[in-house]
Amino acid sequence: MSQDLKAVRGMNDILPGDSHHWRRLEGDLVAVLDAYGYQEIRLPIVEQTAVFKRSIGDTTDIVQKEMYSFDDRNGDNLTLRPEGTAGCVRAVLQNGLLQQVPLRLWYAGPMFRHERPQRGRQRQFHQIGAEVFGMAGPDIDAELILMTARMWRALGLGALRLELNSLGTPAARAAYREVLTAYLRGRHDELDEDSRMRLERNPLRILDSKNPAMAEVIAAAPVLTDHLDDESREHFAALCDMLGDGGLEFVVNPRLVRGLDYYSRTVFEWITTELGAQGTVCAGGRYDGLVELMGGRQPVPAVGFAMGLERLLELRLQQAGAAAPAPALYVVATGGALDRPAMALAERLRDAFPGRAVMAHLGGGSMKSRMKKADRSGADVAIILGEDEYAAGAVTVKPLRADAPQQRCAESGLAEVLASLGVA
Ligand code: ATP
Ligand code: MG
Repeated sequence: MSQDLKAVRGMNDILPGDSHHWRRLEGDLVAVLDAYGYQEIRLPIVEQTAVFKRSIGDTTDIVQKEMYSFDDRNGDNLTLRPEGTAGCVRAVLQNGLLQQVPLRLWYAGPMFRHERPQRGRQRQFHQIGAEVFGMAGPDIDAELILMTARMWRALGLGALRLELNSLGTPAARAAYREVLTAYLRGRHDELDEDSRMRLERNPLRILDSKNPAMAEVIAAAPVLTDHLDDESREHFAALCDMLGDGGLEFVVNPRLVRGLDYYSRTVFEWITTELGAQGTVCAGGRYDGLVELMGGRQPVPAVGFAMGLERLLELRLQQAGAAAPAPALYVVATGGALDRPAMALAERLRDAFPGRAVMAHLGGGSMKSRMKKADRSGADVAIILGEDEYAAGAVTVKPLRADAPQQRCAESGLAEVLASLGVA
């Protein structure tokens, strides 16, 4: 096909062979959100560019080099959302939802970042995220993290590592920033180009560097944990206790910082070693200053997370395997004269077996070609309607996958026969 009609690099089709895995993944995650009383908010995919610039911060990778921004026909500068939190805060403010806090929300959908496509990194990728507004205590941070742990159990995932840190208040962070910058200036010769650029603008991000050559400099850097304000220290200790109460194991990683500017206090990531270099499947934290920064009349504490669905799906298929879909039935008449009654039969079977795929043979053809299509449909069983069966209110059940003989039964006895074949 001609090159100019191909999908954009890093933006992938989700094909029929995969889409049911996606639906199951999303369904299983949403079931856990429902169980904790979180409500869905559906947000636009495009926002004013300022929504992201203001919230995510001018010095971040996302704003500096990853956003898909464009002028629309009115000359408004718009951006395809690179993440969900900014739009969620914008919507919550615009629609007055903060009058009724606490507010537990979730969203799902595609996000867009212009990054180098590779395993675990797409330009259009999908997230499910949760955001909670109006609660400042560590208990809600613990609830969110316990909820994500329940999600991994629901997906059948094991061996995920929880890393935690506290970034303290903005004031504590500013003080730490000075100490860190002084240290890094002292080792200026050893910094890579990226880190030199970050040194004055966003030195905390240097700690997030994935360049192995930087590992030693980072390992010896002063840690934020030693510069926390007392309240943040207590908040963090209480969170750790609550996670312990919930039976969660975690690692305090004093070098865990998040790429976005808006975090304060709690930050966390869930990481796997089984997906190669892109091992973070879920990341989140507290952002108590963001509502006010985005125009709220007073500060409203908030905390949330986002998980990458591509990475979770790959991990699930790797660890837990794909669940077999419910067995499907292929309804086929032996000849054209019975096609109409067969179609009516298929409708009755859809009533009788809700949740089961009942495919009707359409388009005529010889018996041979009908059975070939039945086989190719992937159905587990053919339900055959011939003259004799039709006259008697019966059907013939022919297993297409299992090595079992076909058998005739009354239409009313079909459920029993399917059960005996193990496809009910
Ligand atoms: P990374 O360090 O991997 O770039 P990030 O800090 O940019 O991650 P967040 O903005 O915290 O990521 O997004 C939360 C989650 O969304 C990530 O942990 C990851 O699972 C997923 N994610 C982020 N960017 C991508 C991408 N380009 N492709 C696929 N998944 C992504
Ligand atoms: Mg990134």
